[in-house]
Formats: sequence, structure tokens, C-alpha cells
Amino acid sequence: MKTRILSFVLILGITAFNITGCGGGGNGSSSGESAGGDDISAGWDSPLMMHVVDDVSQANWEQTVRQLSGAEPVQLNGEPVYITSRDAHTPGSAQAAAYLRGRLESMGFAVTSQPFSCEDVISENLLVRLPGSGGNSSRVVLGAHYDSTNDEDYWDSPGANDNASGAAAVLEAARVLNGHRFTHPIDIVFFGAEEVDFCGAYAYVDDAQASGAVIIGAIILDMIGSYNANYQLTIEGEEEYRGWMGYAAEAISRYSNLDAAQTFESSDSDHVVFQQNGIPAYLLLTSDFDDSYYHTTDDTAAHIQSDFGYQATRAAVGAAAQSALIIE
Ligand SMILES: [Zn+2]
Repeated sequence: MKTRILSFVLILGITAFNITGCGGGGNGSSSGESAGGDDISAGWDSPLMMHVVDDVSQANWEQTVRQLSGAEPVQLNGEPVYITSRDAHTPGSAQAAAYLRGRLESMGFAVTSQPFSCEDVISENLLVRLPGSGGNSSRVVLGAHYDSTNDEDYWDSPGANDNASGAAAVLEAARVLNGHRFTHPIDIVFFGAEEVDFCGAYAYVDDAQASGAVIIGAIILDMIGSYNANYQLTIEGEEEYRGWMGYAAEAISRYSNLDAAQTFESSDSDHVVFQQNGIPAYLLLTSDFDDSYYHTTDDTAAHIQSDFGYQATRAAVGAAAQSALIIE
């Protein structure tokens, strides 16, 4: 999250959505066909979907948050390293990228680096792709930024909520979605240098558009680990992307114990870059997040609400799988 959000939210009616946006419906039964015509996607309440969502591990999510935010060491080149900052101006950003790359490679992924320079930093996005079937190339994006910052001292920037929480969720999504079949490919992206000027998101979108890729929509996670007494997760988008946002509302209601809130005022995270380029996108973040630790040395794992992050991860996994029309 680049700057502080001050926005109001609307409480959602859970079943009021008319979901549109990517070729299939998603009304609780089988829906959606690939170009081949014989791949039927699994519905929202299918055993496959429940299997995938139930595979999400709170312990995994929490440990990744702790490792990215320096509460636990990571192993880099055989040595234990405490990542004390992931600010793009510090070496910790590359340490975090190396750690994420290692985790992804241990899952069997081929990891693509997307290097970029932007303003006064050099950084990279990390990308893995879950393939689509039947020649479908229009893709879903699931992403989170892995860098952090601290307004007082960027060398001491644990960034547990902002945004180890989102990066850990996307890493866990990569694990549980790996090996499944989808109609649409899913690009799983770890963005660098969001805190500089959404640099990683610009690099990703520029590259996708230069290559002629069609992006169905983007799901962005930023700050899903802070406490909210009402257990409420906000879907932040724009009015014109209401249909795309509907997938998130459906996923939150079906796969988490959180309530959903919605706002049509977008700012302050990577989803804005997609929206600026006419690509449907939304942000998932804790409603009314506790901002007393925001961009400080105190945004630590000790202040994370683990069960909230776990529930939000389940919702994001479900939204991504349904948006990409999971087949098996
Ligand atoms: Zn931030």
C-alpha cells in the first residue's frame, strides 16, 4: 500500500451479484467451456473447489509472513538471513525476491524474472504461470507486492502486514493451485517496488500489453493481515468493474468466514495500474485496517491477525480458481 487509504465502504448484499466477465457463469453448477468445447469447469460448490480451498494452510501463510518480515530467518545460499527490510532501496528487496524464488522453485515452478529500473531503484517482478487449456490465452492475474517501506527509516521495514501478508497469500495460492487445470492461464505475480511508484505493476502491464496479451482481470492483495473486529474484507475497485469484483464477493461468502465490503474508490495499490489501462482489477484488503503500525518499524509479525489472513487467502484462492474456470 503506497499511501494511506481513507475511504468509506458499503456493506454488501451477499447474493446480489450478477457475475459476468469471463466467458462462463458460475452459478453453483458446471459452467464454462474451453475453446475445445469439452472441458467443463467445476462450479463454486463442487468438491474440487472445496478441496482446493481447504488445502490452504494457515501455518504456511503465517510462517511466510514471519520469514518475509524478519521474525524468522530465511536460508539464502545456505546461510540464515533475517530480512529486516524489503524496501526497494535496500538489499533486502533482492533477498526477499531470492527467498520467494526459492519457495516457488521448491514447488516445481519455472520462475520468470521481470527486471526493471524505475525512478531511483532497480528491482524485479517474479512471475509463474499456471497454464490454460484448449488454446485459451486470455489470462487472470493474481498478484501482490513483496517490497516494504518505513516512512522513518527504510532500513528497518518489516512490512508484515504491508505486504508480507499479501505476498504470503499469493505464495500459498501458487502452492494449492499448482497442478490443477484451468480454462484460462493464471499469472501469479510478485510485484517489486510498489512503494516507490507502483513500478512493478507498470512493468508487468507494459510488458503484457506490448506482447498483445489479453488480461481478463487482476486480483491484487495488499494488507490482509491486520485486525478487523468485524472480520470484514474490503473489495476495492471501480464501478465499471463491478462484474469482476463480483467473483471476489462470491468467493468471500462461500470460502471464508469473513464479511465482504465494497468500495468503488480505488487508490494506493497495484490494482490502480491495471485499471488505468482499462483492465478489470480489484484490491482485497482488511476493512478499516489498524493503521497504527502502517509504514513503521512496528509493522511486525507480532501484530498480524493470522486467522484473518488465512480466511482472506481462502477467498483469494477461490476467486482466482473460479475466475480462471478451474476444470480439474
Ligand atoms: Zn505500503
